[in-house]
Amino acid sequence: MEDLFSKIIAGEIPCTKVYEDDETFAFLDINPCSKGHTLVVPKKHSRNIFTMTAEEFGKLMQTAHKISAALKAATNADGINVIMNNEAAAGQVVFHAHIHLIPRHTDDHVFPKPNHTTYAEGEMESVAQKITLAFQ
Ligand code: 5GP
Repeated sequence: MEDLFSKIIAGEIPCTKVYEDDETFAFLDINPCSKGHTLVVPKKHSRNIFTMTAEEFGKLMQTAHKISAALKAATNADGINVIMNNEAAAGQVVFHAHIHLIPRHTDDHVFPKPNHTTYAEGEMESVAQKITLAFQ
């Protein structure tokens, strides 16, 4: 149980808890993108989405769904971003699965505009086919 979020769940490292049930735990992010920025984590350690079962991920998202409504009301937000970073390339820094719930207010400019790419002729279909084949 050496990872940071497991220590937070166990109470070995303090946090500001907002929710807990048998399988999930939620607390405020220490370096928030906006006030109320919440992290929802599974109590059972898992690195990220790739190491979770569909059931474990489903339970995590159920808790994220439950908290989102409360968080929107509590922060008077106009919207909420639900974000999960999986692996370092996707921005994951803490390797215990977690969902970010980030309250957003109109024109708050919390995130810069993302970089977009384009598809060459026929490339979109070829990418879709690769994804479809990868299910098998
Ligand atoms: P990631 O980039 O891995 O998706 O996000 C990790 C998040 O954990 C970051 O937003 C960071 O601010 C938050 N975080 C890192 N260490 C701590 C901590 O000790 N306590 C709390 N509450 N949040 C943390």
